Amino acid sequence: MSEAAGQSQSFQAQPFQADVARLLHLMVHSIYSDRDIFLRELLSNAADACEKLRYEALADPALAKQPFNITIGVDKDAGTLAIEDNGVGMTREDLADSLGTIARSGTRAFLDRLGARPESGELSPQEAEDVRETELESKGGAHVDLIGQFGIGFYSAFMVADRVEVFSRRAGSDEAFVWSSDGKGSFTITPLDLDHAPEHGTRVVLHLTEASKDYLDAYKIEGIVREHSSALAAPIELVESPG
Ligand code: ADP
Ligand code: MG
Repeated sequence: MSEAAGQSQSFQAQPFQADVARLLHLMVHSIYSDRDIFLRELLSNAADACEKLRYEALADPALAKQPFNITIGVDKDAGTLAIEDNGVGMTREDLADSLGTIARSGTRAFLDRLGARPESGELSPQEAEDVRETELESKGGAHVDLIGQFGIGFYSAFMVADRVEVFSRRAGSDEAFVWSSDGKGSFTITPLDLDHAPEHGTRVVLHLTEASKDYLDAYKIEGIVREHSSALAAPIELVESPG
């Protein structure tokens, strides 16, 4: 009975922590113009996850079941781009904490840096423009890699996607979950049938916005990977469907 109640709870939308919601709003409203960097950020998370499991597997070799790799899946029919790793994966708590409720120090510092006021709800279009101009002016118009600098990379997925799903299974766990959000204020976490779950690791599925469908082009993806992610600790494979 109490278990059933716990299950149904997990289907309810949970609100993003306030700082996270503000950060998402800023990202989506074009505060940051170099959208390509979302791929670098997701690939760097995938590589980090492989490194974490590589480390854990030193003590418990049974945890890592295959050689580490990262796959980028382009699905033109579905309009999705998927970044999959067989790294350490996330528990239900990890998904909730890392991707939504606990604003890590990077989020706060990023908002402070932009001068975005945390108490004032959503920015108006004019405010967002002001913030953007301030940022550009303060750097003399130079490209500033604020996202990379503050370690808030995951949320950059919402610059190109209007829904993001994160399928994940923690190494050594017999439970898997899917986190899902449209980036507009809340997310859900739902248990995942193990038949549809990776053995361990994470698959981030981006449902690309109409304006971002150009990321379904394998040549474009290859170019971004070559430019931004050529020195990762795990090999990257690109899979296109339909081929
Ligand atoms: P950072 O990588 O600087 O910590 P991110 O916003 O990129 O910030 O990611 C937030 C957190 O989400 C990571 O620290 C990690 O705990 C978790 N995370 C994101 N992607 C993955 C992944 N592919 N596998 C495991 N954990 C992940
Ligand atoms: Mg990261």
